[in-house]
Amino acid sequence: MSAPSFEQLLQQDKFSRKDLVRMLSANEIDTLKLFSRAEEVRISHVGKNVYLRGLIEISNICAKDCYYCGIRKSNKNTQRYELSNEEILSAAEFAHKNRFGSIVLQGGEIISNRHTDWIETIVREVKKLSNGSLGITLSLGEQSEETYERWFEAGAHRYLLRIESSDPCLYREIHPDNSLHDYQKRLQSLDLLQSIGYQVGTGVMIGLPKQTIEQLAGDLLFFQSNDIDMIGMGPYIEHKDTPLYAKKNNLSFLDERYLLALKMVASLRILMKDINIASVTALQAINPEGREEAIKVGANVIMPNITPGIWRNVYKLYENKPTISQDDEDNLSYLIERIAAIGYNVQLDSWGDSLHYKSRKKED
Ligand code: SAH
Repeated sequence: MSAPSFEQLLQQDKFSRKDLVRMLSANEIDTLKLFSRAEEVRISHVGKNVYLRGLIEISNICAKDCYYCGIRKSNKNTQRYELSNEEILSAAEFAHKNRFGSIVLQGGEIISNRHTDWIETIVREVKKLSNGSLGITLSLGEQSEETYERWFEAGAHRYLLRIESSDPCLYREIHPDNSLHDYQKRLQSLDLLQSIGYQVGTGVMIGLPKQTIEQLAGDLLFFQSNDIDMIGMGPYIEHKDTPLYAKKNNLSFLDERYLLALKMVASLRILMKDINIASVTALQAINPEGREEAIKVGANVIMPNITPGIWRNVYKLYENKPTISQDDEDNLSYLIERIAAIGYNVQLDSWGDSLHYKSRKKED
């Protein structure tokens, strides 16, 4: 039997690693077909809505030392901060008033009773100030089962924890080899979050030094076999104050990483038709149109940064992070217009839960 044509491949229901490799290595003409199939799948399965999550970067203090990340513990060239409760709550208030529907609290990884209590209080306060209406996603790294449970009880209902790379060997290359950075532990955290009842998001970096297309295809299959509800994945962007910077000669050009990230988004939409996919900031860091381009090939969530302005530049995971705010009050209508201009609709006042999560729950 001869191999299916690229068009036939895109219409399949099931995809092997080989099929996904073919999609990710598509030439220019086939890439257009991939993108248009992804758009078709997106519209028929999750519609034309785009949901907002106001991103609040609550602290860049981190106990971890991930080789790629600008806020790693050993980076002495960065000023450390933690937002005050007032700063966080006024950002949440802003999101509420502007009808964002939900927020994400993201920060470095800290494990302490004080930190657990602090987040628990903040989650309760955000719920209070919005009469329960703001959805809350957390992105605060690996924590104990008890901590995850307490935050869930307090009212957080989604959690983002990227697997970074689902290939254990590559994972080991980009993290220190110790128990704090253990691949198995990260997997266990994802399981814990799912069993507690969170909607779980994960993701990977695309274009890491020496990362192969086969590994990226494996990442897509990992998302599928782990029944993931939401994905945020974007290009790896080097940061000069990190160990991985030494491997920058092994990197592809930024525009190639960017295109590969769009192909990952499109292929994932075709593979997992009803999940939420975020159009991430790292895309926008490479191309000012990145956010809209990812929406057109299957992403349905955007995370405007609503961290108080003075701290936005200090939370630097990678170089070139967009710092000017496109996302303040006067610019929110501009964002809505830009999304409308490409034919999509920003859905205000909505949690925008993953349809995949809803059908997963029905099956339980
Ligand atoms: N501490 C939290 C979240 C903070 S970092 C956690 O561990 O989940 C959020 C994400 O930024 C990381 O998961 C990583 O995928 C991404 N990131 C970090 N450094 C990056 C870089 N140099 N280029 C691109 N993305 C990066």
